[in-house]
Amino acid sequence: MADEKLPTRAEDFSEWYNQLVLKAQLADYAPVRGCMIVRPYGWALWENIQQALDRRFKATGHQNVAFPLLIPKSFIEKEKHHVEGFSPELAVVTIGGGEELAEPLIVRPTSETIIGHMWSKWIQSYRDLPVLMNQWNSVVRWELRTKLFLRTLEFYWQEGHTAHATREEAVEETKQMLDVYTDFAMNDAAVPVIPGAKSDAEKFAGADTTYSLEAMMGDCKALQFCTSHFLGQNFAQAFEVKYLDQGGVLQHCWTTSWGLSTRVIGGIIMVHGDDQGLVLPPKLAPTQVVIVPIFKNDEEKAVVLKTAKELKQRLIQANLRVTLDEREGFSPGWKFNDWEMRGVPVRVELGPKDVAKQAAMLARRDRPGKEGKASASLADLPATIEKLLAEIQQALFDRALAFRRSHTRETQTYDDFKKAVENGFAFAAWCGNADCEEKIKEETRATMRCIPLDPAAVLGNGGTPSSGTCVYCSKPSKNRAIFARAY
Ligand SMILES: [Zn+2]
Repeated sequence: MADEKLPTRAEDFSEWYNQLVLKAQLADYAPVRGCMIVRPYGWALWENIQQALDRRFKATGHQNVAFPLLIPKSFIEKEKHHVEGFSPELAVVTIGGGEELAEPLIVRPTSETIIGHMWSKWIQSYRDLPVLMNQWNSVVRWELRTKLFLRTLEFYWQEGHTAHATREEAVEETKQMLDVYTDFAMNDAAVPVIPGAKSDAEKFAGADTTYSLEAMMGDCKALQFCTSHFLGQNFAQAFEVKYLDQGGVLQHCWTTSWGLSTRVIGGIIMVHGDDQGLVLPPKLAPTQVVIVPIFKNDEEKAVVLKTAKELKQRLIQANLRVTLDEREGFSPGWKFNDWEMRGVPVRVELGPKDVAKQAAMLARRDRPGKEGKASASLADLPATIEKLLAEIQQALFDRALAFRRSHTRETQTYDDFKKAVENGFAFAAWCGNADCEEKIKEETRATMRCIPLDPAAVLGNGGTPSSGTCVYCSKPSKNRAIFARAY
């Protein structure tokens, strides 16, 4: 745990990440290679993420459902782009109850096909629309190169699926859910994301348009935070999802899907974490405040613990998530390091002198050392801490945004571009041609992350002309895209 130090981020970012996930007890490696076990602390973080999103999904009219884990193999073959995209990653069940199955089953990699199949039975008329569903589950994609939270064979996520009468309505839903994710990312995860459209090469297998949120990690690489897909009528046609319109004409539905996974936990670690460990945004932290009692003898212990317990109750009443660290046999200094590793936003240090003064020492996780410490009166501590948590939440976002902007460059020439993606994002005019995109990827290992929906917000410089000449082929370009090496 806190006994051994992490490698610094500058030394070895990847190893810093791997060790941090283990030492903060977020997750562990499973006996099956590529699978992960989410430990209680990691799951508590995921539950807070789930609640923050679920609240927003319900506020926008969606209902939760549960579809089965197993899908007939023939379903996946009905949509041609979908089968091409997912075939290499499928886990297939061929034996059940000791018998060879008449039709192999796949372990769901995502649920568009089985949901499309059921919709063809449930949707008859325009009165049945829209259908707005979401499910929280896990899916399996047979990945070869895995990393805890970021890419594992099985991962946890939510998948939203909706069906609409018109194209316009489905496009609007796709964008609405991207906005919902953006609101969650910016306000709860304190991650400044760039909402944008994917290229054809990077879009979801079976989608007409894929939108994503892209974030910059602490090593300047990009992470796709989540996606929202406009599926057109592709799945509706493959699965015969039709409705009678008001004029009595049979029409295909327009559908969407959108998902966010436990990968976001990896993103939060890599955006906010420092050399001491995890730094969690207060809105999502399983423990927002830890109280560490300090004493030298039984007499002091009795006085300090009494005050600490009262304080804990007052903080709980103020709706704060609080832990009182009463563990025996560990020094206060050891406990400080342990909670720093676990990223708890505020530490309350309480010793006999503090109790005598009716005060406590507050330490901010986002500002290690003396700079982040201040004494505060016990009388109004819940209010003081609430204010402090809001400040930390904002400070984390501001720091991450400043970091992203300082490592994002508008590039004009290809030489500039190559330098920019060595250590950050390149924001460059791109003609839209897949050949240029492919060449750029081959030559620089940078992929097209997205065409930002709000180009002016990328650098916050009040606006950049989107048009220009393609950074690779110099042909006229309508759009400016973010390119980066990515997870
Ligand atoms: Zn080009």
